[in-house]
Amino acid sequence: MPNLSAQMNSPSQSGVFRESCFWLDTASIPAGDRSRPLPGSVDVAVIGGGITGLSSARVLAKRGVRVAVLEAETPGWGASSRNGGMVLTGLKLGVEQLLAKYGRETTARLYAASLASIDCVEQIVAEENIDCSFSRCGHLEVACKPAHFQGFVRSAEIIAREFNHRQRIVPKKDLRAEIGSAIYHGGLVDEKSAGLNPARYVAGLARAAERVGASLYGATRVEKIEQESNHGAAGHRIATSRGSLWARDVFVATSGYTGRATPSLQRRIIPIGSYIIATEILPEALARELSPRDRMIYDSKNFLYYYRLTPDRRMLFGGRAAFFPESPDSIRKSARILREGMLQVYPQLRDVKIEYAWGGTLDFAFDIMPHAGRLDDLYFSLGYAGHGVAMATYLGEKMAESILSGRDENPFAGLPFPRAPLGLYNGSPWFLPFAGAWYKLKDWLT
Ligand SMILES: Cc1cc2nc3c(=O)[nH]c(=O)nc-3n(C[C@H](O)[C@H](O)[C@H](O)COP(=O)(O)OP(=O)(O)OC[C@H]3O[C@@H](n4cnc5c(N)ncnc54)[C@H](O)[C@@H]3O)c2cc1C
Repeated sequence: MPNLSAQMNSPSQSGVFRESCFWLDTASIPAGDRSRPLPGSVDVAVIGGGITGLSSARVLAKRGVRVAVLEAETPGWGASSRNGGMVLTGLKLGVEQLLAKYGRETTARLYAASLASIDCVEQIVAEENIDCSFSRCGHLEVACKPAHFQGFVRSAEIIAREFNHRQRIVPKKDLRAEIGSAIYHGGLVDEKSAGLNPARYVAGLARAAERVGASLYGATRVEKIEQESNHGAAGHRIATSRGSLWARDVFVATSGYTGRATPSLQRRIIPIGSYIIATEILPEALARELSPRDRMIYDSKNFLYYYRLTPDRRMLFGGRAAFFPESPDSIRKSARILREGMLQVYPQLRDVKIEYAWGGTLDFAFDIMPHAGRLDDLYFSLGYAGHGVAMATYLGEKMAESILSGRDENPFAGLPFPRAPLGLYNGSPWFLPFAGAWYKLKDWLT
């Protein structure tokens, strides 16, 4: 991540901000072993040291499996430590879309998994005593148009009736109790969702995995994976930037950073940039006015904004301001766009300084669904589409169980995992500007 200072190109009070992630200033994440030679062989090699990889490594090592986490940078370097810290119920696709696509039984299973994923995070935080400000503060989705509010009402009815999970509809007239903004047409509250500090969560997961015997290797980029047997046992030879090792099983946990080492997965995942700004620390009364119940908040657009207060009372405001994966230039441009967006929601913040701006890369599958299972003899889990804090934790655990048992029983097993229409994608997302424009148009029309 670049760590530069940049000037907001704006006439009003915004000053100089740091191009670095606020959460990373609050945590010390184990860097992983960067110089010790890799072991000759392990039972399981996990590629990627984010939430997915660390969650799986913790379960595998606890069960006595020899597991090596191979991370190209440092554990948590990817999206896992730089996200909004929202631990959300539901999937990126709404429940009406899920029902239309998968039917009642499968949708019920997937929705239950999304609820179980929140409990899974809570349980790990408690079990491993992770100091990450985990709080069941609930989430608030706000409607940008009256029609979106009608959609909330329908979806809450379906979720209550079909899946026995209660959400609360908040009409526009009552919205002030939830948010200090006048621009929305109503809201939906789900008390089951939670918030946390993601960098401290990742740090806790990494330490927990190490404590039970997982080995974390930083600065170890996997370059190639080939099938190779070892003393008669089927497995894989893994070439990395600092030597090779053999593993019986390989679990790919690279999400938005999936690359050439796993070409079949790379062709199925679109990397999309998401960006966040964080203000200076706000006076207590102002923070309470903006978010009286301290919820995780996001709006109903495709090109959405998501925002929350940090535990030390900054406004953290994120969105897909640019679709491209992060670079110093896209971070600077996005910071300006996000500040404008934040002031539309909260004009009260006009004179407040932006202190941090950063970006990260999300992982979207072509059907906007998470996928976990086995492909080309490799285990994998990715495609969380912005809902990865809870789901990556949960599917990391589920995939560890699959590797242990040899049976793939995760709730997403068997869902078709599409490639680009007409095979027009080799991992380089040339179509992102068009997709971005399409979603902006959709937001304007619907
Ligand atoms: C700005 C932003 C905000 C977000 N906000 C939220 C939110 O509020 N709530 C939510 O639920 N989700 C959110 N997400 C999504 C969430 O952060 C991700 O879904 C989740 O962190 C994915 O975790 P992961 O471990 O699968 O992948 P990552 O954390 O991205 O980790 C993948 C790792 O793989 C490594 N890697 C890649 N290739 C190789 C290789 N060849 N060899 C070795 N290592 C490799 C990378 O270096 C990286 O560290 C957000 C994402 C972003 C970017």
